[in-house]
Amino acid sequence: MTKIAEILARGRSFSFEFFPPRTEKAEENLRQALVELEPLGPSYVSVTYGAGGSTRERTHDIVVDILRNTSMTPMAHLTCCAHTRAELVEVIERYREAGIENILALGGDPPADLDLPPGELHYSAELVDLIREHGDFSVGVAAHPEPHPKSPTRESDRYWTAQKLARADFAITQFFFDARHYFELVESLRSHGVDKPVLPGIMPATSISSIKRMSELQGSEFPTWLAEKLHAVEDDPDAVWRVGVDEATKLGQELLDGGAPGLHFYTLNRSPATREIFIGLGLRQGAA
Ligand SMILES: Cc1cc2nc3c(=O)[nH]c(=O)nc-3n(C[C@H](O)[C@H](O)[C@H](O)COP(=O)(O)OP(=O)(O)OC[C@H]3O[C@@H](n4cnc5c(N)ncnc54)[C@H](O)[C@@H]3O)c2cc1C
Repeated sequence: MTKIAEILARGRSFSFEFFPPRTEKAEENLRQALVELEPLGPSYVSVTYGAGGSTRERTHDIVVDILRNTSMTPMAHLTCCAHTRAELVEVIERYREAGIENILALGGDPPADLDLPPGELHYSAELVDLIREHGDFSVGVAAHPEPHPKSPTRESDRYWTAQKLARADFAITQFFFDARHYFELVESLRSHGVDKPVLPGIMPATSISSIKRMSELQGSEFPTWLAEKLHAVEDDPDAVWRVGVDEATKLGQELLDGGAPGLHFYTLNRSPATREIFIGLGLRQGAA
């Protein structure tokens, strides 16, 4: 096993994110994506945590399965919301006992239609501390280049992001389509005295409806220029896919050229777009 802090200290990292499936068909998609993406030699892979609860146990099982049965280094996402402190400690200790060394500490977004109890921890920074108290983990946090939608101001979000990143090892960003958002975030964190690695999250816009929905949910701008390019070919799903992949490849290149310490790919449990962008960027196994 390897700690992500050590991987980042060696050079650029290229990571893939997956989510726990809810159906047998979705399970099959995940299995296939893992098998097809493993040969690319990602620096690590991560598995999201359902803040609503129904797939929480699956996150644990998938992360441990990746550790035991693949060559990839896994990271488990974990969220504060709807959990007591004791429940979080139990999850963290189970990971430690299973040999998992990397956790992404998050606030979490519980589904609005579920009447879940409030969590005992209010912010992800508290979870960073709790994880550190219960094991020798490498701990990451989320960063929001276009500030978190619930933040009163951009400056307050930058301030709190700097505070939590100072306690963690690295950050991974929400997706965005304009590299300037990322570079401004990194500059702002530096001005707060924090220069730990911030990995930009890449989400190819391969479906107009889902990217619109996800952008609204996450508070990411869906820029007019990209919407126009996608709508120009909207009757041809393959052409939409191609535009999404090409634009994500250009964005990835711009980020790397500008000094980003790597890229984090939101795979949506599918391999083709991630593979295409990875190859388009000329990345290889071992990646740096
Ligand atoms: C890479 C990545 C992976 C993700 N994975 C998951 C996942 O697996 N499961 C899931 O449910 N969601 C996931 N999310 C979404 C995330 O949970 C949401 O964006 C959530 O609303 C905020 O999470 P956070 O960790 O940024 O929260 P926090 O760091 O707790 O911040 C939330 C808000 O509070 C503010 N804030 C922080 N600390 C303080 C403080 N001390 N006082 C006042 N304000 C403060 C921040 O500025 C921000 O506005 C992910 C997001 C990213 C970018």
